Amino acid sequence: MPREGRLFILVGPSGAGKNTLMKRVQQHFDDLPQLATMTTRAIRKGEQNGREHWFVTHDEFRQLIADDALIEYQQVHMNDLYGTPRSTVETAIRDHHDLIADIEFLGAGKIYTAYPDHSVLIFVTPSRLDILVERIKQRGDISPDVLNNRFRRAQFEMTFAPQCHYVVINDDLDTAADHLRQIIAHERDQYAEQPAARHTIHGTVTALIEHQENVLIQANTPDRVPTFAIADQNQATPPHEALQQHLARVLPHPVTIGAFSDSRFDFVAPDYVTIDSPPPDVGLTFYYRCVLPEPAALTTQPPPGWIWQPVAALNLPAAVRQLISP
Ligand code: ADP
Ligand code: 5GP
Repeated sequence: MPREGRLFILVGPSGAGKNTLMKRVQQHFDDLPQLATMTTRAIRKGEQNGREHWFVTHDEFRQLIADDALIEYQQVHMNDLYGTPRSTVETAIRDHHDLIADIEFLGAGKIYTAYPDHSVLIFVTPSRLDILVERIKQRGDISPDVLNNRFRRAQFEMTFAPQCHYVVINDDLDTAADHLRQIIAHERDQYAEQPAARHTIHGTVTALIEHQENVLIQANTPDRVPTFAIADQNQATPPHEALQQHLARVLPHPVTIGAFSDSRFDFVAPDYVTIDSPPPDVGLTFYYRCVLPEPAALTTQPPPGWIWQPVAALNLPAAVRQLISP
């Protein structure tokens, strides 16, 4: 029996490259149409009614809301409303068709809440926000005020990254398109007999085992958070799984691994993010926020050989510190 259809939802700040990437991967998959959403904005040159959007009047949009025909809707630009048609999504799920969508993050969150088993949230972003600013500037004349607004909104949107299933770093377009293609293929493959191989990653993983702004440190290295090398050549263990395995060997208690950051990013990413392999000569450090499970006694009395150290006493990069005190 074929699986039900799913929605691949691209989320991320304006200018991140969502539409460019969507078009790229659609060239690869001939069965992945865009989820055409409802909008009150005017049709643009090159667009087709029913392909990118359904173009409706404000009155028609209000009627769709009244009829509960939209899963969610938002005012995205000054006066324009955008909403996700319920019937398109439910028909695709039922008829085993996948769709790809570009939805701003508040709407994407609502779609995920409504269809958690059928939504894959993919956050698209350049590695640094200054790259985004350059791209927005290049797109055309833009006043410092508007640019500043966009930048502040982008900073806010970045906070959604940890809630997504994947992050695609769009610095180099070919790499990002290939990564997005692999994510979609991998997700589709999960239902097949031979799941796709994951990326191999080389570098180090660092465990920030946290409780109330204290971090668990090995007693023999009191100024350093526990760090482990992951340099396997041929295996395909993502960094958070490698860390879990290391910690299981050295700690008497299991830990829960949460959000992570790495030295390339301006933001915190979800734990199960997949990332392309860095070049072989570049070592990457992945910092993971981890928590010890109950019993609470462990959080005051550390396991033998470990001590709790105040975060403030450690020299950590700002993005990493943000993992602990978001
Ligand atoms: P979004 O849909 O997220 O708002 P777009 O796909 O419209 O973003 O891309 C914004 C601009 O950035 C476009 O001019 C696009 O050509 C450009 N762009 C997208 N990805 C890259 C990249 N990797 N490198 C350079 N420019 C890019
Ligand atoms: P555009 O006018 O450029 O086609 O779309 C503007 C933005 O609106 C897109 O980047 C996308 O994030 C957002 N968007 C498009 N459709 C919807 C929708 O149905 N719901 C929400 N919440 N946002 C949408």
